[in-house]
Amino acid sequence: MGIVIVGGGLAATRVAEQLRRAEYTGPVTIVSDEVHLPYDRPPLSKEVLRAQVDDVTLKPMEFYDENNITLLLGSAATTIDGDAKTVRLDNDALLPYDDLIIATGLTPKRIPSLPEMEGVRVLRTVDESLALRKHAGEAHRAVVIGAGFIGCEVAASLRGFGVDVVMVEPQPAPLASVLGAQIGNLVARLHRAEGVDVRTGIGVAEIVGGGTPERVEKVVLSDGSAIEADLVVVGIGSRPATDWLEGSGVAVDNGIICDNVGRTTVPHIWALGDVASWQDATGHQARVEHWSNVAEQARVLVPSLLGKEPPQAVVVPYFWSDQYDVKIQCLGEPEADDIVHLVEDDGRKFLAYYEREGALVGVVGGGMPGKVMKVRAKIAAGAAISEVLG
Ligand code: FAD
Repeated sequence: MGIVIVGGGLAATRVAEQLRRAEYTGPVTIVSDEVHLPYDRPPLSKEVLRAQVDDVTLKPMEFYDENNITLLLGSAATTIDGDAKTVRLDNDALLPYDDLIIATGLTPKRIPSLPEMEGVRVLRTVDESLALRKHAGEAHRAVVIGAGFIGCEVAASLRGFGVDVVMVEPQPAPLASVLGAQIGNLVARLHRAEGVDVRTGIGVAEIVGGGTPERVEKVVLSDGSAIEADLVVVGIGSRPATDWLEGSGVAVDNGIICDNVGRTTVPHIWALGDVASWQDATGHQARVEHWSNVAEQARVLVPSLLGKEPPQAVVVPYFWSDQYDVKIQCLGEPEADDIVHLVEDDGRKFLAYYEREGALVGVVGGGMPGKVMKVRAKIAAGAAISEVLG
């Protein structure tokens, strides 16, 4: 029996590692539908795409052998029977468990009305990154649909290949829904300075292809204008990989509903990472799609599952994004409608504090690593904004 982990990414690896560190001696099995050893995703839109790195494996095979962790790669979990405590795989194998941990991550969204054709790509897996890199080496003009983190990073990496890039975003600025339009406009400025044609406040109406097999030739925008392209990257976000849970009794609402330590609505089934919506300190459900959140959740879930006390430290959420030579970092929980205090701006790099009800709730920096990290304790303490504006 033992513990079965479904999903083969960062969350799966972290919980397996933490289980062994916590001296859990029972069987641990990781089931992943990918054929690769669990790997790290942030480099896929950065170093891998820019051909600076090929191997993003999180842990070598020896780690799994030495820690007696069984890896079932290339196997998708298809159904769960919570009463019998079994999970069925696509090869019909039935795995019994004492506890099941779901860490299936996300599936990139596609635009339903747009046809699939060659030259139109999404980015979530290492295979997709390597294929995009190969294509980028031959492409002349790319349209990146969506100016979220992945769209922005892909645009920056494509510029490194000398590809002409048009980035199309229906919101008023890149990253506007996360960081607000004011900081989003600074991100747009960075991309424009690097030669990206950033078009905001506009959507995509149609992708037109030609030839056999059909290959992308142009993208038609909602104002009727057309952009010729031999590469299109769709970066319009992702949705939790939960389709396979239908009928399992595990409640899903924009992610797997969990309490504040990762318990789902079915006994002995837990979830963490991008797929999971945990209850936050204010009692709200929140799903986070960032790397450091996975590590924090693993640190809480594992002791809870083993009947031990989870750490009580205040966690200040953090994520980063690398675009050109600028590392954009975000600490705390800024929201698009917070009051933004832009305290430094040299035309490329910047630093902004986010205020809500008089308190410092977040900091966002572009190329300002020391200054971002410096205010961690103040954010954790809910300091007054006046303490940093001085
Ligand atoms: P994943 O890493 O997605 O792993 C889920 C795994 O489960 C996958 O291998 C999937 O194939 C497998 N799976 C799905 N369904 C099944 C099934 N039914 N059966 C078996 N296996 C299944 N975060 C940052 O903070 N900063 C960054 O700069 C950053 N850059 C990123 C760049 C890219 C291109 C991407 C895609 C993500 C980036 N992230 C970044 C986000 C970060 O990588 C994720 O938060 C993290 O990977 C989440 O880990 P996870 O284990 O929850 O999910």
